[in-house]
Amino acid sequence: MSNTQGGHAIVVHGGAGSSCDYTDGCERAARYAVEELGISGDALEAAIAAVTVMEDDGRFNAGRGSVLCLDGATVEMDAAVMDTRGRLGAVACVQGIENPVLLARAVADTPHWFLAGEGANRFAAAIRHPAWNTISEHQREQHRQVREALAGSAPSMPGVRGDAFLRFWNYRGAPDLPAAAACDTVGAVVRAADGHFGVASSTGGSAPSLLGRVGDTPIIGSGFYAGPAGAVAATGIGEHIVRHLLAHRVYSWIEDGMPLDRALQRGIDLFGKDVAVGLIAVSRTEAGARSNRDMPQASIISD
Ligand code: ASP
Repeated sequence: MSNTQGGHAIVVHGGAGSSCDYTDGCERAARYAVEELGISGDALEAAIAAVTVMEDDGRFNAGRGSVLCLDGATVEMDAAVMDTRGRLGAVACVQGIENPVLLARAVADTPHWFLAGEGANRFAAAIRHPAWNTISEHQREQHRQVREALAGSAPSMPGVRGDAFLRFWNYRGAPDLPAAAACDTVGAVVRAADGHFGVASSTGGSAPSLLGRVGDTPIIGSGFYAGPAGAVAATGIGEHIVRHLLAHRVYSWIEDGMPLDRALQRGIDLFGKDVAVGLIAVSRTEAGARSNRDMPQASIISD
């Protein structure tokens, strides 16, 4: 935990359960956020700058590194942005585009706050949002690991047998899989020197998952929240996080005056040890991160 009174504060995460070898990617993202603060001074644009860097990194489960769906070909991505100037935007299940967080930012300028699936993709085409359809060797390797995990006896998610996915298969083609979940969203929370807060998050979802699956990341109050007392982003297994409205719950504790570290830990303690979960937050005076798994992270706090 750090005291941030008076200046800016940035906290970035690379996903609960993701390798801490990727910390350099979070540090780079945090530096980009600082640069953006130097240019615009805008908390949301700084959070988006950080998330954009991690989407482009290729190692995180977001943007170019997003996990492949069970069919080994489809990538579905979710992203969200929110700040204390009233900007709020989210996308879910978008395919074949670059930087979903920038699409979420664009949605914030429409009459709506959330676009999903084909409509989100058509919106991307309408505003000439750049396409991205390249599947990397890193993504293929991740998919091989998910397939192997499904073939084993370990549950594919806490309390869920692997073959549950086969029974409800909703992909176009027939399953060619034998029947450990992988997930690791990226996110950033920022407090700007003017006292505004911003949050941005992006994910390739969880693996394994059925087509059309949406976790917590683009759901306001579950995966993210920003208000006058701070900003919070969550990572981990979305199916569990949404049940606790985790981001808003932790925000409320901070708003009520609970020390930030205690609020984060209390949020983590809502979950059993088998559920990967992580949180980052900034408040008017503090900044911090907590997870019950390895979680690459970085923070930059001004004097
Ligand atoms: N929360 C994300 C989801 O469930 C995954 C993650 O944070 O790793 O889609």
